[in-house]
Amino acid sequence: MSRWTEAGPNNYVLVTDGEALNSGLVVGQERAMVIDTGCGPRQAKEILAAVREITDLPLVVVNTHAHYDHFFGNAVFADDGVTEFWAHANCAAAIEENGDAQRFQVSATEPEMAAGSGDAVELVVPNALVKDQPVLVDLGGLTVTLFYLGRGHTDGDLLVGTSTTLFVGDLVEHGTYPSFEDSYPLEWADVLRHISALRHRYEFLIPGHGQPCDDQFVKTMANTMTTAARQAQQSLRDTPADATKAIPILPYGPEQSRWFIKRLKETW
Ligand SMILES: [Zn+2]
Repeated sequence: MSRWTEAGPNNYVLVTDGEALNSGLVVGQERAMVIDTGCGPRQAKEILAAVREITDLPLVVVNTHAHYDHFFGNAVFADDGVTEFWAHANCAAAIEENGDAQRFQVSATEPEMAAGSGDAVELVVPNALVKDQPVLVDLGGLTVTLFYLGRGHTDGDLLVGTSTTLFVGDLVEHGTYPSFEDSYPLEWADVLRHISALRHRYEFLIPGHGQPCDDQFVKTMANTMTTAARQAQQSLRDTPADATKAIPILPYGPEQSRWFIKRLKETW
């Protein structure tokens, strides 16, 4: 049996190995929605098999953002008959532009995907796009809201809200430092505050990786990011020639701190 946990009626979360990705499942009366498809066909087949333990309904897919562990499994779902792949427009554009360039990331776990040879290794670019306006997706007796709160972890993070549950992708990660590679640190902190402001609307908050979290976690993450941005900005003003000076004082690991400073400089 798979490791599904329920997050409100008709809402489920599945953790699969590797990056401890949280995939979501929302089951309506006519269709079900799968949120994030894994690193490649191996993980996606595991996710799909787990989905089929819960429902036989036709599926739609959402990719929360354009990082490989969230969309490389799309082709397995396309082979299962999925034709509707939702994402933010910026996410779809990023997959189109640099999806292939991310293949090397999965050489250990998904060698076929990394090599681009084998079953279900093609990139499936989302075709049902969300921009600034929220979109309601009717699953039959149950409506899911797909919406965008601005740039954060990437420039195309899509949030998925149901009557009980908010799936936030990697805007929130639990048990690990945030990933800043494609991020907009200052705007990300604002997005987190916006998520926090929605706290009365949702009972469950499901991060992209790690355990479900509460509002305090989101607030702390936002405040930490704002403080870190101030510290790094100050340090960049003090020693503009050496941006690495700020690394030891930042509340993240050395690797994340390096990216944090780089992205802060690029997006400030
Ligand atoms: Zn990510």
